[in-house]
Amino acid sequence: MFCLLCNSEEKLYDGLCKSCYLKEFELIEVPEYATFTACSHCGATLKHDKWIHTGYYDDEIINDAIQKDITVNKELKDVEITTEIITNRGTVYDCMIHVYGQVLDEYLEKDYPIEVKVEKGVCPDCSKFYSGYYEAVIQLRADDRKLEDEEIASADEFISNEIQRLCKTNKLAYVSERIVLKEGVDYQVGSHNAAHKIAENMQKQFGGIITESRKIVGHDKSKSRDLYRSWISVRLPSFHKNDFIEYKDNILKIEKIGSHKFVGLNLRTYENESISWKEYDKIKKVGNTEDIKTTTVTNVTPTEIQVLDPDNYMTVDLKKNKELNFINIGQEINVIKLKNEIYIISE
Ligand SMILES: [Zn+2]
Ligand SMILES: [Zn+2]
Repeated sequence: MFCLLCNSEEKLYDGLCKSCYLKEFELIEVPEYATFTACSHCGATLKHDKWIHTGYYDDEIINDAIQKDITVNKELKDVEITTEIITNRGTVYDCMIHVYGQVLDEYLEKDYPIEVKVEKGVCPDCSKFYSGYYEAVIQLRADDRKLEDEEIASADEFISNEIQRLCKTNKLAYVSERIVLKEGVDYQVGSHNAAHKIAENMQKQFGGIITESRKIVGHDKSKSRDLYRSWISVRLPSFHKNDFIEYKDNILKIEKIGSHKFVGLNLRTYENESISWKEYDKIKKVGNTEDIKTTTVTNVTPTEIQVLDPDNYMTVDLKKNKELNFINIGQEINVIKLKNEIYIISE
């Protein structure tokens, strides 16, 4: 028997002498091109059935794409395959595959060029976004009054900043729709987690109270679990800074609105009181700065201050407090009449 290529009389392998066999030996079978799938909206890539958001196509993705599409010759032992990106033209990567391995006690090394193409797809997160999917609704409301235009503008800006921050790590942190209603504004948010965080931060920024409810809106057969949608209401307080409220039979002037508490000046003791938002339902707004009137002090005793009732000019005796020591007879002072009682505004 002779080698089919060189007529040598050596031992033959598949009809060829060792030298010809090794020369003709292909270490791997390379397809015309390899592919990987990338989301045409966000650039996420499909890797082992999972979409990952790296923001760029890394060597690992290209390498995986090549490795899955090539076939290694069964005769080759101790195989080592590395890949390298040579150039990139748009959605096509020109790559080189370096293959090393053993056949017939000889070590072979060979390079194979391959094209890797990006196939456009849509990742599930983008498909949710484009279908208007949302898990939660942030309901911006004001308690017992209409929302003011400035409040809506500040909330819009606040939510937009929060979304920009959260969407870096949560692809469902988006507002799919903003709906203006008579009673407030609804923001439909893709991710329940994101909506919950935003609502909590809004409360810290603007005060008020949050309530949340949820409803079953469907069933995920693949995971055999119910799908919920949440309604998170952010209710801004009925009052603003400098408004007057009634709380536990006292009248307070709101001095400060904070995340956990708000502070009011008690107009009986002239001391500041911190009140938790948990107490909110026990509070009633009773007046604002427009209800403040000016009147004249007609008499001052060690224990009382006599003023004219701004409505009917009758004299009224008010208890004196050490915070009111600055007041003298004949002085013009600010007062507010609430629930038929007159309170002196000390500043
Ligand atoms: Zn030969
Ligand atoms: Zn995407």
